[in-house]
Amino acid sequence: MPTPLAPADSSPALRLARRAWTQLQSDSRRSVDEAEQALALASDVDPAGRAWALLVLGFNRLNLATPAAAIETLQQAGNAFAAIGRRDGQILAETGIARAWWRQGRLQQAYQRLQVLRDEGLQSLRGEQRGLLLNALAGCLSSLGDSEQAFAHMYAALRDTPATHAPGFDVALHCNLGHELIQLGDLDAALAQIDEGLERCRRLTNPRLLAALLINRAIALMELGRAPEALPVIDEICTIPDDEQGRGRNAACFEILALVALRAGEAPRGRALIAAAEAAHHEGIADEAHELAQARCLLALADGDAAAARAWLAPCREQLLQPLADDPLSPRIRHSGLQLLAELAERDGRLDDALLLLKADARVQAGRAAAASRARYQAAALQTELARMQRRLRDHEARSRETERVAAELSAINRQLQRKVREVEDLRDALREQATRDALTGLFNRRHFNDAAPPLLAQARRDGQALAAVIIDLDHFKAVNDRYGHDVGDRLLRAFGQVLGAEARASDLVCRWGGEEFCLLLPATPLDAACRLVERLLQRWRSSSLDMPGQRLERLSFSAGVCDSHTETGDIGALLRAADHALLLAKRNGRAQVLSAAEPSRL
Ligand code: GH3
Ligand code: MG
Ligand code: MG
Repeated sequence: MPTPLAPADSSPALRLARRAWTQLQSDSRRSVDEAEQALALASDVDPAGRAWALLVLGFNRLNLATPAAAIETLQQAGNAFAAIGRRDGQILAETGIARAWWRQGRLQQAYQRLQVLRDEGLQSLRGEQRGLLLNALAGCLSSLGDSEQAFAHMYAALRDTPATHAPGFDVALHCNLGHELIQLGDLDAALAQIDEGLERCRRLTNPRLLAALLINRAIALMELGRAPEALPVIDEICTIPDDEQGRGRNAACFEILALVALRAGEAPRGRALIAAAEAAHHEGIADEAHELAQARCLLALADGDAAAARAWLAPCREQLLQPLADDPLSPRIRHSGLQLLAELAERDGRLDDALLLLKADARVQAGRAAAASRARYQAAALQTELARMQRRLRDHEARSRETERVAAELSAINRQLQRKVREVEDLRDALREQATRDALTGLFNRRHFNDAAPPLLAQARRDGQALAAVIIDLDHFKAVNDRYGHDVGDRLLRAFGQVLGAEARASDLVCRWGGEEFCLLLPATPLDAACRLVERLLQRWRSSSLDMPGQRLERLSFSAGVCDSHTETGDIGALLRAADHALLLAKRNGRAQVLSAAEPSRL
């Protein structure tokens, strides 16, 4: 048994075309786009990708363009499959061609071809591909009036098509089932199927299928004698363009819409829709021609022109009484046509003729009832199976919603976690900062100094460069505290911290040593350069002031001791002791000055 069309070697074009195939019903536009992309990608180098892309395009053309355009593409697809020896692909292409014949009204030809394909197709096709063949047969059987077999084939198609594999297929079945139930006159059941299909279809992107469902809804309402309720349905259908982007060129269905509008008593609307039907090109099937004639007849009656009404319907009479084998009328259309003819005959007082027509109509209705009773079992089985499929679909959707919900929850937790991690990191940074910084001035604290100073000295010694050490002590600071209070003392310390921070280079280590004492380590700075720098700092501090309410603190000063690692060759402790000693001398010397450890002579 050949394998199904799943590609053995999966080229990008083939993958794209396969995806386009599964989107035939659920997203017709994407299906077309991706099939075209696949075709461009495959060109001549990837025959399997090309064959598959052509098949998808052909089926989309069947839905959206004309049967002739579909046949052309599907023939190319069939040839492409034949060239690579894929009989299963050929069968699918031929199934599509038969459907196109059916759309062209070549019903017998279509049915015979599908019957030939049936046995071989059921052997070699799988899943939704089998479903496609069975569904095409169901369509033909329906048109041939064999509802029982139509339902049986729809049932088999449904069983073969995994709900999650060909999304939207269930909607197409609701539509077909609704259509068939209308033919049988089981209108309430038809409406239920159509409404279920509509609900699901609104979640897809398939304007053609949506329009088909809406048209069936309008027909069901009209048949139920509730045509006015169908007017908003007509409005909605007319908002979907009758082109390949919308509901397709194939089944604009203006005729039936005109009929519904006229039955609802909307003559102007009916007239406009008849004009639209006349303008729309179609290779129509018999039903459409009859619907147009009936609509014209009703409009003529609304215009009070009984003669014109008779004239419009006259050419239909023969076929209404004796439908052709190859182009049969649906029982629904025959019934409404015969009713109209009988009504006209009665008006004219041709009572014998009216009776003849009503008898013919009674036969049609009896046939409908018989078909309905034969088909009842199959129809019920199909409805049950469809309901089961819906339940499975809903479960599947609920599960995927649940999966999405869990995924969303997880990502929310993840986001929360990341926020927390950031908070912890910020906190850790803040703590590290607090551990190394003095809270009042923001300068480094003594602990950090103790950690950072020895490596700085070691580096300086390795590089043979001078590291300068400076200790600064604010003069008479206690007096500031005593006179203005501790807060002003704090402000002064902060102000001095800012001056230090502004003057220091990035490589300098500046810290608050404790109280009103500060310590600086200046890499690559010999003693005299360091002294000049601290002198500049002193000048700056002396010229600054601290504003307070009502007064200003001026004549600020400090004393400083400076040494460097060239003059003092010991460790960092020795360096600091030397600087501290120079500071002590500066204090003793009268404060407000900078003393170098190498200049005791200045004492
Ligand atoms: P000298 O010119 O000899 O250095 O005199 P001084 O008053 O600056 O020195 P002393 O050591 O006598 O006083 C230092 C004062 O600094 C004593 C202490 O209360 C005060 N002090 C220490 N830390 C702080 C602080 O964080 N804030 C404030 N406002 N005062 C502080
Ligand atoms: Mg002091
Ligand atoms: Mg002091």
